[in-house]
Amino acid sequence: MNKALRKAVIAGNWKMNKTPAEAAELVSAIKPLVADADCEVVVCVPYVDLQYVVESCKGTNIHVGAENVHWEESGAFTGEISAPMLTAMGVEYVVIGHSERRTYFGETDDTVQMRVRAALNAGLKPILCVGETLEQREKDITFETIAIQTKIALSGVSEEELDSIIIAYEPVWAIGTGKTATDEQANEVNHFIRGLIADLYSKEAADKFVVQYGGSMNAGNAAGLLAKEDIDGGLIGGASLKPADFAEIVKAASK
Ligand code: PEP
Repeated sequence: MNKALRKAVIAGNWKMNKTPAEAAELVSAIKPLVADADCEVVVCVPYVDLQYVVESCKGTNIHVGAENVHWEESGAFTGEISAPMLTAMGVEYVVIGHSERRTYFGETDDTVQMRVRAALNAGLKPILCVGETLEQREKDITFETIAIQTKIALSGVSEEELDSIIIAYEPVWAIGTGKTATDEQANEVNHFIRGLIADLYSKEAADKFVVQYGGSMNAGNAAGLLAKEDIDGGLIGGASLKPADFAEIVKAASK
Protein backbone atom coordinates (compact mmCIF):
# COMPACT_ATOMS: atom_id res chain seq x y z
CA MET A 1 0.00 0.00 0.00
CA ASN A 2 1.40 3.41 -0.94
CA LYS A 3 0.38 4.87 2.41
CA ALA A 4 3.25 2.89 3.91
CA LEU A 5 5.66 5.06 1.88
CA ARG A 6 4.56 8.16 3.80
CA LYS A 7 5.17 9.18 7.40
CA ALA A 8 2.10 10.92 8.80
CA VAL A 9 2.54 14.51 9.96
CA ILE A 10 0.38 15.92 12.72
CA ALA A 11 0.80 19.69 12.95
CA GLY A 12 -0.84 21.93 15.51
CA ASN A 13 -1.80 25.41 14.40
CA TRP A 14 -2.11 27.53 17.52
CA LYS A 15 -3.39 30.53 15.52
CA MET A 16 -3.48 33.78 17.56
CA ASN A 17 -3.42 32.03 20.92
CA LYS A 18 -0.93 31.79 23.80
CA THR A 19 1.41 34.37 25.25
CA PRO A 20 5.01 33.17 25.69
CA ALA A 21 4.25 32.14 29.28
CA GLU A 22 1.15 30.25 28.19
CA ALA A 23 3.07 28.69 25.30
CA ALA A 24 5.66 27.42 27.78
CA GLU A 25 2.92 25.75 29.79
CA LEU A 26 1.25 24.22 26.72
CA VAL A 27 4.44 22.87 25.17
CA SER A 28 5.60 21.29 28.44
CA ALA A 29 2.24 19.56 28.74
CA ILE A 30 2.44 18.26 25.15
CA LYS A 31 6.05 17.02 25.23
CA PRO A 32 5.69 13.92 27.43
CA LEU A 33 2.36 12.97 25.85
CA VAL A 34 3.80 12.69 22.33
CA ALA A 35 7.30 11.48 23.21
CA ASP A 36 6.77 8.00 21.74
CA ALA A 37 4.91 9.14 18.61
CA ASP A 38 5.46 7.15 15.45
CA CYS A 39 4.63 10.13 13.24
CA GLU A 40 6.09 13.59 12.71
CA VAL A 41 4.81 16.02 15.35
CA VAL A 42 4.86 19.75 14.60
CA VAL A 43 3.61 22.79 16.49
CA CYS A 44 3.07 25.98 14.50
CA VAL A 45 2.99 28.86 16.91
CA PRO A 46 2.73 32.68 16.94
CA TYR A 47 5.96 34.54 16.13
CA VAL A 48 6.35 35.80 19.72
CA ASP A 49 6.34 32.23 21.03
CA LEU A 50 8.86 30.84 18.56
CA GLN A 51 12.04 31.53 20.49
CA TYR A 52 10.83 29.79 23.63
CA VAL A 53 9.17 26.89 21.82
CA VAL A 54 12.21 26.22 19.58
CA GLU A 55 14.51 26.17 22.63
CA SER A 56 12.14 24.06 24.63
CA CYS A 57 11.69 21.46 21.86
CA LYS A 58 15.41 20.95 21.25
CA GLY A 59 16.29 17.30 21.83
CA THR A 60 12.62 16.24 21.65
CA ASN A 61 10.60 14.77 18.77
CA ILE A 62 8.59 18.00 18.36
CA HIS A 63 9.31 20.13 15.28
CA VAL A 64 8.46 23.82 15.27
CA GLY A 65 6.75 25.94 12.64
CA ALA A 66 5.61 29.51 12.11
CA GLU A 67 2.14 30.45 10.92
CA ASN A 68 3.11 32.67 7.98
CA VAL A 69 6.13 34.16 6.22
CA HIS A 70 6.77 37.12 3.92
CA TRP A 71 8.09 36.61 0.39
CA GLU A 72 10.97 39.07 0.55
CA GLU A 73 14.19 38.38 2.47
CA SER A 74 14.26 41.85 4.05
CA GLY A 75 13.18 45.42 3.39
CA ALA A 76 10.50 48.01 4.02
CA PHE A 77 7.63 45.70 5.01
CA THR A 78 6.66 46.95 8.45
CA GLY A 79 5.29 44.22 10.67
CA GLU A 80 6.36 41.32 8.45
CA ILE A 81 8.72 38.41 9.14
CA SER A 82 11.01 36.88 6.51
CA ALA A 83 12.03 33.29 5.87
CA PRO A 84 15.73 33.87 6.76
CA MET A 85 14.58 35.38 10.08
CA LEU A 86 12.67 32.18 10.82
CA THR A 87 15.47 29.80 9.86
CA ALA A 88 17.91 31.86 11.94
CA MET A 89 15.68 31.09 14.93
CA GLY A 90 15.73 27.35 14.23
CA VAL A 91 12.20 27.20 12.78
CA GLU A 92 11.66 24.26 10.42
CA TYR A 93 8.08 24.49 9.08
CA VAL A 94 5.76 27.30 8.03
CA VAL A 95 2.02 27.36 7.34
CA ILE A 96 1.31 29.13 4.05
CA GLY A 97 -2.03 30.13 2.54
CA HIS A 98 -4.20 29.30 5.54
CA SER A 99 -7.81 30.19 4.75
CA GLU A 100 -7.86 32.70 7.60
CA ARG A 101 -4.99 34.53 5.86
CA ARG A 102 -6.83 34.30 2.53
CA THR A 103 -10.14 35.48 4.02
CA TYR A 104 -9.07 38.19 6.49
CA PHE A 105 -5.72 39.39 5.16
CA GLY A 106 -6.14 39.42 1.39
CA GLU A 107 -3.85 36.46 0.70
CA THR A 108 -4.10 35.42 -2.96
CA ASP A 109 -2.90 32.40 -4.90
CA ASP A 110 -0.07 34.56 -6.26
CA THR A 111 1.16 35.74 -2.86
CA VAL A 112 0.88 32.16 -1.61
CA GLN A 113 3.15 31.09 -4.48
CA MET A 114 5.66 33.83 -3.61
CA ARG A 115 5.69 32.78 0.04
CA VAL A 116 6.21 29.12 -0.91
CA ARG A 117 9.17 30.18 -3.09
CA ALA A 118 10.69 32.26 -0.29
CA ALA A 119 10.23 29.49 2.26
CA LEU A 120 11.90 26.90 0.02
CA ASN A 121 14.77 29.25 -0.82
CA ALA A 122 15.48 29.63 2.89
CA GLY A 123 15.20 25.90 3.66
CA LEU A 124 11.81 26.07 5.42
CA LYS A 125 9.21 23.35 4.88
CA PRO A 126 5.91 24.84 3.74
CA ILE A 127 2.61 23.42 4.95
CA LEU A 128 0.58 24.69 2.03
CA CYS A 129 -3.14 25.06 2.74
CA VAL A 130 -5.74 24.67 0.02
CA GLY A 131 -9.50 24.34 0.34
CA GLU A 132 -12.86 25.30 -1.04
CA THR A 133 -15.50 27.53 0.54
CA LEU A 134 -19.00 26.23 1.19
CA GLU A 135 -20.23 28.25 -1.79
CA GLN A 136 -17.63 26.64 -4.06
CA ARG A 137 -18.60 23.16 -2.83
CA GLU A 138 -22.27 23.88 -3.37
CA LYS A 139 -21.54 25.12 -6.89
CA ASP A 140 -19.69 21.86 -7.52
CA ILE A 141 -16.36 23.55 -8.24
CA THR A 142 -14.40 21.99 -5.36
CA PHE A 143 -11.93 20.18 -7.60
CA GLU A 144 -11.43 23.15 -9.93
CA THR A 145 -10.75 25.38 -6.90
CA ILE A 146 -8.25 22.94 -5.40
CA ALA A 147 -6.52 22.47 -8.78
CA ILE A 148 -6.08 26.22 -9.32
CA GLN A 149 -4.80 26.84 -5.78
CA THR A 150 -2.39 23.91 -5.96
CA LYS A 151 -1.05 24.57 -9.46
CA ILE A 152 -0.39 28.26 -8.80
CA ALA A 153 1.23 27.61 -5.41
CA LEU A 154 3.51 24.95 -6.86
CA SER A 155 4.49 26.80 -10.02
CA GLY A 156 8.25 26.91 -10.22
CA VAL A 157 8.67 24.20 -7.57
CA SER A 158 10.95 21.38 -8.73
CA GLU A 159 10.30 17.69 -8.05
CA GLU A 160 13.28 17.68 -5.68
CA GLU A 161 11.87 20.64 -3.74
CA LEU A 162 8.53 18.87 -3.47
CA ASP A 163 10.10 16.61 -0.82
CA SER A 164 10.05 19.60 1.55
CA ILE A 165 6.38 20.49 0.99
CA ILE A 166 3.22 19.22 2.61
CA ILE A 167 -0.25 20.10 1.39
CA ALA A 168 -3.04 20.45 3.92
CA TYR A 169 -6.51 20.07 2.42
CA GLU A 170 -8.66 22.31 4.56
CA PRO A 171 -12.25 22.84 3.44
CA VAL A 172 -12.96 26.38 4.59
CA TRP A 173 -16.43 25.41 5.83
CA ALA A 174 -14.88 22.90 8.24
CA ILE A 175 -12.29 25.16 9.89
CA GLY A 176 -13.12 26.15 13.45
CA THR A 177 -16.78 25.34 12.82
CA GLY A 178 -16.99 21.94 14.46
CA LYS A 179 -18.18 20.67 11.04
CA THR A 180 -15.78 18.03 9.77
CA ALA A 181 -15.68 16.69 6.24
CA THR A 182 -16.70 13.03 6.27
CA ASP A 183 -13.84 10.57 6.00
CA GLU A 184 -14.90 9.94 2.40
CA GLN A 185 -15.20 13.63 1.44
CA ALA A 186 -11.77 14.37 2.87
CA ASN A 187 -10.16 11.34 1.27
CA GLU A 188 -11.74 12.12 -2.11
CA VAL A 189 -10.10 15.56 -2.25
CA ASN A 190 -6.80 14.32 -0.83
CA HIS A 191 -6.79 11.63 -3.53
CA PHE A 192 -7.46 14.31 -6.14
CA ILE A 193 -4.50 16.36 -4.85
CA ARG A 194 -2.26 13.31 -5.08
CA GLY A 195 -3.42 12.88 -8.68
CA LEU A 196 -2.48 16.48 -9.40
CA ILE A 197 1.00 15.84 -8.02
CA ALA A 198 1.29 12.77 -10.25
CA ASP A 199 0.24 14.83 -13.29
CA LEU A 200 2.50 17.77 -12.48
CA TYR A 201 5.52 15.69 -11.41
CA SER A 202 5.48 11.89 -11.38
CA LYS A 203 3.75 8.90 -9.81
CA GLU A 204 6.81 8.33 -7.59
CA ALA A 205 6.58 11.91 -6.30
CA ALA A 206 2.85 11.51 -5.68
CA ASP A 207 3.25 8.20 -3.83
CA LYS A 208 5.55 9.73 -1.21
CA PHE A 209 3.85 13.14 -1.02
CA VAL A 210 2.20 13.96 2.31
CA VAL A 211 -1.36 15.33 2.08
CA GLN A 212 -2.94 16.25 5.39
CA TYR A 213 -6.57 16.94 6.21
CA GLY A 214 -7.52 19.90 8.38
CA GLY A 215 -10.88 21.15 9.59
CA SER A 216 -12.23 20.39 13.05
CA MET A 217 -10.12 17.24 13.36
CA ASN A 218 -10.32 16.13 16.97
CA ALA A 219 -9.66 13.25 19.34
CA GLY A 220 -12.96 11.64 18.38
CA ASN A 221 -12.83 11.77 14.58
CA ALA A 222 -9.06 11.55 13.92
CA ALA A 223 -8.76 7.76 13.76
CA GLY A 224 -11.41 7.45 11.04
CA LEU A 225 -9.93 10.23 8.91
CA LEU A 226 -6.34 9.06 9.34
CA ALA A 227 -7.22 5.48 8.39
CA LYS A 228 -8.08 6.65 4.89
CA GLU A 229 -5.59 5.82 2.15
CA ASP A 230 -4.85 9.39 1.08
CA ILE A 231 -4.96 11.18 4.45
CA ASP A 232 -1.40 11.38 5.76
CA GLY A 233 -1.88 13.42 8.87
CA GLY A 234 -3.67 16.53 9.99
CA LEU A 235 -3.41 20.25 10.50
CA ILE A 236 -5.10 20.78 13.82
CA GLY A 237 -6.41 24.09 15.11
CA GLY A 238 -8.63 24.07 18.21
CA ALA A 239 -7.67 20.58 19.39
CA SER A 240 -3.96 21.41 19.28
CA LEU A 241 -4.49 23.73 22.26
CA LYS A 242 -5.68 20.80 24.38
CA PRO A 243 -2.68 18.57 25.17
CA ALA A 244 -4.65 15.36 25.79
CA ASP A 245 -6.68 15.78 22.60
CA PHE A 246 -3.63 16.65 20.51
CA ALA A 247 -1.83 13.60 21.93
CA GLU A 248 -4.82 11.41 21.07
CA ILE A 249 -4.63 12.58 17.43
CA VAL A 250 -0.88 11.93 17.37
CA LYS A 251 -1.59 8.43 18.72
CA ALA A 252 -4.18 7.82 16.01
CA ALA A 253 -1.62 8.83 13.37
CA SER A 254 1.02 6.56 14.89
CA LYS A 255 -0.94 3.32 14.30
C1 PEP B 1 -6.70 25.08 11.20
O1 PEP B 1 -6.48 26.07 11.87
O2 PEP B 1 -5.99 24.83 10.22
C2 PEP B 1 -7.82 24.22 11.57
C3 PEP B 1 -8.02 23.12 10.87
O3 PEP B 1 -8.58 24.60 12.63
P1 PEP B 1 -9.65 23.70 13.43
O4 PEP B 1 -9.00 22.37 13.68
O5 PEP B 1 -9.94 24.44 14.68
O6 PEP B 1 -10.84 23.56 12.54
